[in-house]
Formats: sequence, C-alpha cells, structure tokens
Amino acid sequence: MDGSLSPEHDSFRQEVRAFLRGALTPDVVRRSMRQTGVAAERDLGIWWHGVLHEKGWIAPGWPKEHGGCGWDVVQRHIWEEECARARAPQLFLAGLQLCGPVLMEFGTNAQKEYFLPRILSGEHYWCQGFSEPGAGSDLAALRTRAVRDGDHYVVTGSKIWTTHAHNANWIFLLARTSTEGRPQAGISFFLSPMDAPGITVQPILSMSGEHEVNEVFFDELRIPAENRVGDENQGWAIAKYLLEHERGGSYAALARAFLDEARSAAEISDPLNGVRLWDDPMFRRRFAELDIRVTAQGWTEKRVIAGLALGHGAGSVMSSVLKLHGSEVQQAATELAMQALGELAIPDQRAALAPGSDVPPVGPEFGMRATARYLNDRARSIYGGSNEIQRNIIARLILEEHRA
Ligand SMILES: Cc1cc2nc3c(=O)[nH]c(=O)nc-3n(C[C@H](O)[C@H](O)[C@H](O)COP(=O)(O)OP(=O)(O)OC[C@H]3O[C@@H](n4cnc5c(N)ncnc54)[C@H](O)[C@@H]3O)c2cc1C
Repeated sequence: MDGSLSPEHDSFRQEVRAFLRGALTPDVVRRSMRQTGVAAERDLGIWWHGVLHEKGWIAPGWPKEHGGCGWDVVQRHIWEEECARARAPQLFLAGLQLCGPVLMEFGTNAQKEYFLPRILSGEHYWCQGFSEPGAGSDLAALRTRAVRDGDHYVVTGSKIWTTHAHNANWIFLLARTSTEGRPQAGISFFLSPMDAPGITVQPILSMSGEHEVNEVFFDELRIPAENRVGDENQGWAIAKYLLEHERGGSYAALARAFLDEARSAAEISDPLNGVRLWDDPMFRRRFAELDIRVTAQGWTEKRVIAGLALGHGAGSVMSSVLKLHGSEVQQAATELAMQALGELAIPDQRAALAPGSDVPPVGPEFGMRATARYLNDRARSIYGGSNEIQRNIIARLILEEHRA
C-alpha cells in the first residue's frame, strides 16, 4: 500500500474541500471548535444537518436506494478526514449511524418508509436507550420491562447516560420481553417518540458542568407493537449489529486537530519572561511521541480502509484496535493541549463563551474549551464499549485465532 489516492478519489477530496470551504464560515468554525462533547451544540448541529441534507451528503454510509450518498469506503474516509480537518460541526449520529442501518436490516417496509426519510431530513432526532444502572458493559443484564398488552407493550424501567435525550424527539431502546433462558434471549428492540406519556428525562451534568447525558425514566410507557423492530426477543442480535456500527469511524484526523492546538499553545511565549514551552526538549519529546502514535493511527485507519475497498472485512479485531488506540491518542492529545496552555487553561470563560458575547477570551480562542474538552474526553474510553472491553475482544479473538 503506497497511500496515494486514485485520480477519482483525489478529485473527490478536492470537491469535498471546496464544499467545506464555502459552507463553513469562520463563525461556524469558531462555534464548532467550542464543542467539547460528542456532538455540536443542538442549533448548530441541526443547521449543519440541514445544509448536508440539501447538498445530498447527509448519509455517506447509506446506500442510494435509501437516500444515502452511495459512497465507497475510501470516499467515506476522505469525507470524515476532511470534516475533522476543517473542524466542521460534528453531528449527533444516533439516527444516521445507528438507528438507520438497523431499520434497513431488520425493519419492516412500513418502518423503513416512515422512519428513514425523517432521519435523513433531521425531522427525527434520535437518542439511544441501551445502558441502565447495572447494565452497561454487561448490557444483557438490563431490567427495563416491556409487557405485551393487546397491540401495545407497556414499558417500565429506566436508562442512564442517554446522550442528547433532552434534544431528541425519538428514542430506540432495548427492553426485556422474557425472563426465560439466557438473559440475551429475552430482549426486544423498540422505537418511541420522546413526548409519549410516561417518559421523563433528568439531566446528568458532566465533570465540566455541561449537559450532554441524561437519565430517562419509563413509567408504563405504551409502545404500539408496530414500533417493535424485528421479532419479539430478537433484540440482542439487533443490538450487536448496531454496536458494530458504533465502533467504526476515523479517529486520527481529530486527534491531529487537537495535537495542532497543543502545538499552538506551546508556541505562545510567556508574557513575563518570553519563554516558550515549545523550546523545552521534554515537551517536544512528548509531542513527538504522540505525533508518531497519531500518524500510526492514521496509517492503520488507511490500511483498514484499503482492505475494505478490496472487499476484505474490517474484522472485529481491527475495529476494536482502532477504537482502543484511537480513543487513547485523542485523550492524550486533549491532555497535552491543556497542559501546554498552562494557567491559560484555568480561567472560567463562560462569559466569553455565551452565544453573542463580545467578551474577549483569555488566551487563544481554542484555549477557552481546552479544559472542558479534556474533562469530557475521558468518557471516550467508556462509551461505545469501554476500552477494557475492547481489550477483552482483541484478546479473545486473537487467542481464538491461535487456537484454531
Ligand atoms: C459520555 C457518555 C455517553 C454515553 N452515551 C450513551 C448513550 O447515548 N446510550 C447508551 O445506551 N449508553 C450510553 N453510555 C453508556 C456506556 O455505553 C456505558 O457507560 C459503558 O458501556 C460502560 O458501562 P458502565 O458505565 O455500566 O460501566 P461498567 O460496565 O460497570 O464498567 C465499570 C468498569 O469496569 C470495567 N469492566 C466491566 N466489565 C469488564 C470486563 N468484563 N472485563 C474487564 N473490565 C470490565 C469497565 O471497562 C469499566 O472500567 C454513555 C456513557 C458515557 C460515559
């Protein structure tokens, strides 16, 4: 693999760059760079979703027959890289990346016809109701119950860590429909509007003080049977399929953007003595080590993409390796950026960050969010399957390969 692109893919990259240059005004980029969690602030995300929908580029991974771009894996990778490089707003992808593919694979024709266009247009904003207190890594331990009552299910229980539940108008959830046999055998997959009677959302504030995740309570929520996806008790297979989609993606480009911020911060001279952290060999060494890891992540991503383009599967081992190492380098880059800012990472800059504020930031613009980003980024090695769980998967699959 020499890493060069075919002329078609090269011209696709130029097309993407030109589009992003035109669509992303400096104000949009500034707001987008203030994002510290998994997705852009609600209004910015909805606006960007609308722009991409109008352009026909909202669903890079979907086939054309369902309104997607029909791009090949290389095009999708180029798109992700260029968006990260340009600091485009990051969309919250529960609908496009998780629910949509599940409906395409397991949904009825009526479910596909109703839900897929609304995911594409952004009319439906989805959240994911899987985890519960006591059921995260061990998801099959979930206890939310769904009891059949005529042509409805009555759902009672609660979910936790539900990202953007306060923004969403639909939720997909797992609930227990049977206690017979193995825990995995009694789970079903449901869809519900968030304004249905019986749903309450309680915010959970993160370490940075921001509101991104929630608890969701179901008190005799009635879900029509037609909003069950797949057969009753088939939910575990659907959840496994969905989680495969959650783990994919590219990490290196965003880690590179965070690393660039660390370098910019280190290049600022101390106003008192003119000293720059960038001139400190110990800092430069740490930076170089991380630079090498980010570069290695980027090439590994490309290697997997090249394999996929040739028709080889990514394999669970590689998607776990990419998630494990990718989240580690992103976390390390946010840590280095915060350390490079030094005391400039300390001020509470909420006044400057308020929408429409003309209060100037203390230090560089990106520095305003560096600490919040560092704190929020600790979650990256927990959600989407914790890194310990990824290590288990890698160990098990590699050991099994050796045994075979
Ligand atoms: C910011 C954030 C957003 C999230 N968003 C969502 C969402 O939108 N929807 C949703 O459904 N869930 C969401 N989650 C939940 C997430 O999927 C779970 O937190 C995750 O699966 C871990 O589960 P847990 O929190 O119950 O921890 P536990 O499973 O209790 O794990 C605790 C610790 O033990 C380790 N551990 C557990 N089992 C093993 C094992 N077998 N071997 C080795 N180590 C182990 C874990 O790695 C972890 O370090 C989110 C979580 C966070 C932090």
